[in-house]
Amino acid sequence: MIVRLQCARCAAVYPTDQVRYVCDCGGLLDVSHDLEALRPEVNRHLFDGRLEGAPTPHVAPTINSGVWRYRELILPVTADVIVSRPEGNTPLYRHPRLSSWVGLDTLYLKHEGENPTGSFKDRGMTVGVTQARLLGARAVACASTGNTSASLAAYAALAGIPAIVFIPAGKIAAGKLAQALAYGAHTLQVAGNFDDAMRLVRQVCDELNVYLLNSLNPFRLEGQKSIVFEIVQGFHWRPPDWIVLPAGNLGNTAAFGKALYELKQLGLIDRVPRVAAVQAAGANPFYQSFRKGFRERIAVQAETVATAIRIGAPVSYERAIRTMGWTDGLVTQVSDAEIMDAKAMVDGVGIGCEPASAAAVAGTRKLVAEGIIRPDQSVVAVLTGNLLKDPMATVAYHTGEWPDAAYPNRPLSVAAEMGAVRQVVERLADSR
Ligand SMILES: *Cc1c(COP(=O)(O)O)cnc(C)c1O
Ligand SMILES: [Zn+2]
Repeated sequence: MIVRLQCARCAAVYPTDQVRYVCDCGGLLDVSHDLEALRPEVNRHLFDGRLEGAPTPHVAPTINSGVWRYRELILPVTADVIVSRPEGNTPLYRHPRLSSWVGLDTLYLKHEGENPTGSFKDRGMTVGVTQARLLGARAVACASTGNTSASLAAYAALAGIPAIVFIPAGKIAAGKLAQALAYGAHTLQVAGNFDDAMRLVRQVCDELNVYLLNSLNPFRLEGQKSIVFEIVQGFHWRPPDWIVLPAGNLGNTAAFGKALYELKQLGLIDRVPRVAAVQAAGANPFYQSFRKGFRERIAVQAETVATAIRIGAPVSYERAIRTMGWTDGLVTQVSDAEIMDAKAMVDGVGIGCEPASAAAVAGTRKLVAEGIIRPDQSVVAVLTGNLLKDPMATVAYHTGEWPDAAYPNRPLSVAAEMGAVRQVVERLADSR
């Protein structure tokens, strides 16, 4: 099977066995599959057959992993080189209280925060680190708002390749920093913002021949496509009307469009769902460009409680515009207050997610209120990260540090004395 790298801007082609992230013209690259050659081989039966017999730890990662199960559409490699936890196979939740809060008959939540390191980044990293191993990389590196470094650290440790992560000092959530350190990554705290860290890691990787695993890396996006593959297969190949996701660096937005385009070309789906990308109002360059009909590429000084999408100059801008065209997609924005209230709702029904993920739910609610999504339409919102990633944001919300929290669950203080405890518990036991 011929897999090549192809420029998303000028269509120039490069081989996959050389290290290259961008085209000579400056455009980003896609992993390009020969869809004509795949058509006879790839069909619903092939993938449904691999789902039969639930995953067990002893089955090869090529079937057991929610990424490698779709390997023909991701990266055709042999099982022995794959670096896998395994990842994917994430649940699709729904809860009546949450559905009615957003104004839908049924809201589905694809919980990517239940991946091995707690975010969808694992789906890209299993492919990226496998490719690093194929290339014989001496070390791997990334700049990150947190989840990419957590995931890279884990997969590099698994593969036995040194990992170097660049993080903006003081700007990443506690759980994510803890993971990078715990999994043994060399962790550089850069005195600057994410965009500074990104610029530096790109340059140092070029100069020192270290393999770069930021989302400009085309192999990571191939793995992230499997979120869409799992969603669509979970709906028995009749896709939902909408897929809503949080958007920061736009890697996932790009990957979702490519996945849907390929599924449609291969005849695995008859209809393409609309993709809605949701940005935080304080980190909304893609939203601003969308409002201007993408005539202007915009950069902002990003600030939001949702650190995973605190990105002012998104890398995958061009590839994400393509998704908007392929899926009749749209971009919306939500405030930090809306994000944290949506998070409190997701958390409060017992599911839970990190702030950036809740942007998808807040955005869905907004699009329903605006009449863009109809209440009877089927909608999947992607929860990108785990509740435990950012404990400080959650605690602040519930303890009164978050100014306009609509659903705080304040801890109560009580004397260490039975009379006082009895009085409090008597009052609480029948509530809700
Ligand atoms: C990385 C990340 C995002 C943003 O995804 P992009 O592909 O950069 O747009 C959103 N949520 C979480 C939890 C993330 O880790
Ligand atoms: Zn090019």
